[in-house]
Amino acid sequence: MEKDADGFYTGPAPAAKPKATEEPAPEPPKDAPTAEGSKPGQATDLIKSTFDVTVTLADQQADVNSPLYSAKTFEELGLHADLLKGLYDMGFSKPSKIQERALPLLLKDPPQNMIGQSQSGTGKTAAFVLTMLSRVDFNLNKTQALCLAPTRELARQIMSVIVAMGKFTPVQTEYAIKDSLPKGASRITAHIVVGTPGTMIDLMRKRILDTSDVKVFVLDEADNMLDQDGLGDQTLRVKNSLPRGKPVQIILFSATFPDHVRNFASKFAPNANKIELKQNELSVDAIRQFYMDCKNEEHKYDILVSLYSLLTIGQSIIFCERKHTADRVAQRMSSEGHKVASLHGAKDTSERDSIIDRFREGLEKVLITTNVMARGIDVLQVNMVVNYDLPLLNERDKSISKSDMRPDLETYIHRIGRTGRFGRKGISVNFVHDQTTWKQMEQIEKALGRQIIRIETNDLDEMEETMKKYLK
Ligand code: ADP
Ligand code: MG
Repeated sequence: MEKDADGFYTGPAPAAKPKATEEPAPEPPKDAPTAEGSKPGQATDLIKSTFDVTVTLADQQADVNSPLYSAKTFEELGLHADLLKGLYDMGFSKPSKIQERALPLLLKDPPQNMIGQSQSGTGKTAAFVLTMLSRVDFNLNKTQALCLAPTRELARQIMSVIVAMGKFTPVQTEYAIKDSLPKGASRITAHIVVGTPGTMIDLMRKRILDTSDVKVFVLDEADNMLDQDGLGDQTLRVKNSLPRGKPVQIILFSATFPDHVRNFASKFAPNANKIELKQNELSVDAIRQFYMDCKNEEHKYDILVSLYSLLTIGQSIIFCERKHTADRVAQRMSSEGHKVASLHGAKDTSERDSIIDRFREGLEKVLITTNVMARGIDVLQVNMVVNYDLPLLNERDKSISKSDMRPDLETYIHRIGRTGRFGRKGISVNFVHDQTTWKQMEQIEKALGRQIIRIETNDLDEMEETMKKYLK
């Protein structure tokens, strides 16, 4: 391997030593993953070459303090050769910290429950997907693993990971999301079913989905799935329908486990192995956080428009609190000649699918959305997130005045976590426009222990400089 000027290894990782078996063991990929993932054609002018990023990733994966660090190889984690092939085919060369720590615990027999926490973008999906693929008996055409996620977009993304990692296995999969099954479908026999809780319950009630052979039950974004004010009831109903008397391995993953769900999570997944983060480790340091002082609501719109050229350097996600705002902002910007798309839960399923697919393909650069996109969504090219509205707790509660509302710290962490995926750099920008929103932002800053830096709204050049400097 060669070293670059900074002394980092830039060449391909050494190939694994050949083993004395008849079938050659799969080898790690020669080229480490690039910033553009599987789409090298989509380089932005911020990330000049895939070369730089390869160096950065290799560097971070070798840094003991990085959440991407691992002392081990995937071979040492006890995975089947077919799954190693799948991983290497995806360009994964080394595990991240959560993968290294969680996989041996998840794959051990007898199976034990797991509550796993690690920062956004550090590879939690692979940990639970590899567990499902390892535990399923492919000779039995029955559903043996269920995975729940809060949105259809995330369920579809998880499915694409299962299909990619399971490429060299005979795994069969099915969705439990709205409008996914053909009319009149009678019985699901797929090994792994991924979906959202409402539809999962529906399919179970209609006896289309039989859970009597389920042995792995995964909740991605588990704190969200267990929240009593949200999906908690539905998730519990799915769990209560699982076979009794037979062991089911329950696996919970998230970047956040706030105190009020932590206890419930421990009851939901009894005697679980736990991997936890400290409060000051919650946010990803490669995501640089900024704020802009807007004069009023209307000024927020003007500022967003003036940011447009920055938003389209890579890709960006703009978060609004309400669907109505997302639509209105998108319509206004479109009518003024800017190309943006909007996505939220009031759109019909086929439209939602085509918008997120276009965004993933880079056909849309700017996505204006709501909390529906706050969690889990992994689009590597996103280097900027804008909180047009800050996320607030009890936003819908009319009895609480705006000025008494507290920021929703977990949602904030997840929203900004849509950028800075797996060691990449990213920027988040918060719009504040009055005393109340300023205070709310200050609370976020204190809770995370990370500075949120001011950017002047009246000096676009300086703003562009600051942002570009950081992303380079
Ligand atoms: P999380 O669920 O922790 O937020 P994801 O599982 O979505 O993170 O992974 C974030 C990104 O990192 C994905 O694009 C994924 O393909 C990539 N990734 C995960 N593990 C590895 C690895 N070991 N090597 C290279 N890339 C990885
Ligand atoms: Mg995730």
